[in-house]
Amino acid sequence: MAYTRRNFIKAAAATAAGVFSAPYVVTKSRAEGDGSGKPMKIIHFVSDGTSPSMVATADLFSRLTRGRRLCWLEMSKAPGANTGMMDMASLSSSVTDSSAASSSWGSGSRIANGAVNCLPDGTLLKPIYEVLGELNWKRGLVTTTEITHATPAGFGSASKSRGDTKEIARYYKKLNIDVLLGGGQNIYDDKLRKEYTDTGYSIIQTAEEMKNASNDKKLLGIFSGGHLPMTIDWLNDQKLQKTVPTLAQMTDKALKMLGESDHFILQVEGGRVDHACHSSDAPGAVYDHLAMDDAVQVALDYQKSHPETLIVVTADHGTGGISLNGAGGGYNDTSKQVIRMRNAKGSFERLVSSIRKCKNAVELQNYIKELYSVNIGADKANLLLLASEHLNSVAYDEGKGFSCQLGQVLANHFAINWSGGNHTGDYVALVAKGPGSERFAGLIRNTDVFRNYVDFAGSDFRNKEWEGDLIKLSYDLGQEHWLDTPIA
Ligand SMILES: [Zn+2]
Repeated sequence: MAYTRRNFIKAAAATAAGVFSAPYVVTKSRAEGDGSGKPMKIIHFVSDGTSPSMVATADLFSRLTRGRRLCWLEMSKAPGANTGMMDMASLSSSVTDSSAASSSWGSGSRIANGAVNCLPDGTLLKPIYEVLGELNWKRGLVTTTEITHATPAGFGSASKSRGDTKEIARYYKKLNIDVLLGGGQNIYDDKLRKEYTDTGYSIIQTAEEMKNASNDKKLLGIFSGGHLPMTIDWLNDQKLQKTVPTLAQMTDKALKMLGESDHFILQVEGGRVDHACHSSDAPGAVYDHLAMDDAVQVALDYQKSHPETLIVVTADHGTGGISLNGAGGGYNDTSKQVIRMRNAKGSFERLVSSIRKCKNAVELQNYIKELYSVNIGADKANLLLLASEHLNSVAYDEGKGFSCQLGQVLANHFAINWSGGNHTGDYVALVAKGPGSERFAGLIRNTDVFRNYVDFAGSDFRNKEWEGDLIKLSYDLGQEHWLDTPIA
């Protein structure tokens, strides 16, 4: 499907129709809460790889194509909402990876990049879903990545390495997490699936099955071999639309399953923004961020009838150093360029290998015109052909990949440019709405999230924190470089 504004509005309307078919009902006791000023329900959103600049870019695109701001920014203006920024440094670096980031929320301890709730000496920490599970809170994980990926893993497991996907899957099962929705069919082999069904889980693999699945039985939904497709590819592929649910639909299902219990915590991750940003794919990143924003809207609608719910929307780190650039005289062309992204026919993930097959500048120019409705010109086409052959000959070493070079060429037409392909050390934006939201105002530390959430559940549990010398730690971990900055 060619991507047009009309199509997007149509797709959004169809999603909304599916999502809001069964409205939630307010009851008196819920509206009153438990009287403590603390939330009884927590919905924690993560837009993976989203710096404040990524938010500004997606917000402009939303205003241009949907005629409205991101709802999670609108949410900040509501009564009872608080905004802040969060320092996401890990134990081993000022620039975190997703597992250390989610683990800081999930254990209250900073850990080294690459591990999941595990200290450098191998001590496994107690993840927040274990702490809250013991207090009879229901728990759910929803993501567009593989369900065992770093961000969900940080709430529901502990492991020496984020790569131990089967171990992470078994940890979820051990904790009896009520609902798990995302990708990862390839991780769940027959043996693992049997272990899940033997302990009472239903396993589903399509959007249709999700719609029909019981809300009263533990559920594992895995809708793709690996990660779920990027939203921009989903919008351009009717077959995917029939089989793979949106993040908003998965969030709605999780709330139907958890939402009537006295206490629950749900983590929802828009995980593929990060992947698009790693490859400097501006349209890919923006559409996945909008998909997460649609999921936030589902939570806000739920909260209307369940005011005892706290919603927190944030990110784990920036990725790619995206920037919204001034274009044209007086910078007046920025919006004109940003709106061009609505013509993109797919993600870099899907298109780059075929783009690299172009044999000469004319062929490449024509193909990019077909895919993005922009004419990059002969000079830039030649530059890309050169880049394809000599990926090491770039000014900044962290932008070596062909995708990064393609992203920079397209930046001349989209007014969006990049610093490279890595995570960045930005403080991330945070919006919280509902009881307890005042604890998220101002500049907070990532580990505060765990302390707040367990306190809301009436517990003072704390995990051990690493107290060793951080520079020595970096050396002990066998890293090539000494820490460049002290850890805040
Ligand atoms: Zn990443």
